[in-house]
Amino acid sequence: MRLLLRATHPSLARLVPARSFTYCPRCASRLVLRDDHGTRRPTCENCGFINYRNPVPAAGVILARRGEVLLVKRRFAPRAGAWCLPAGFMEYGETPERCALRELLEETGVRGRLDGLFGVYAGFDDPRVRTVLILFRSVQAGGRLSSGDDAIDARFFRFSRLPRAIAFAAHRRALEEFRAAIR
Ligand SMILES: [Zn+2]
Repeated sequence: MRLLLRATHPSLARLVPARSFTYCPRCASRLVLRDDHGTRRPTCENCGFINYRNPVPAAGVILARRGEVLLVKRRFAPRAGAWCLPAGFMEYGETPERCALRELLEETGVRGRLDGLFGVYAGFDDPRVRTVLILFRSVQAGGRLSSGDDAIDARFFRFSRLPRAIAFAAHRRALEEFRAAIR
């Protein structure tokens, strides 16, 4: 696990400490396991800090046209080289909608216009964190397709010929559900 974490995107650094505090990030006292409403959590007996672990919200889009869907090829671990829907972790203070459109633009060069919520998925197979993926339907409103940021490739695939390696279970499920819905 540690090797895996080292190979990942630099922004991961802000995600890792939440699961690995030994000392209180507020007052530097050693944390001890204490019961908090039925769950044992690292707790600071000096200042009351509780080390909660919560899933990290991510947002993205399903942008489909004429039986094709836009996917990106991942540059970074986990699952570098596998494909997924344009999506990424929400910034602090960002709305899911804004995050989805930002990730779409950064990874594919496409400016989107959201066309409703498609689905919300729990993600249990990202080795960094548990996630909640919020997926919107989107249409292209501008921009030009070119991969960037965390993506080394971005292109449309026919639903009947999706790449075999799709990075995460939530993305695979969303693609199956979308394909079933447009049939
Ligand atoms: Zn403390």
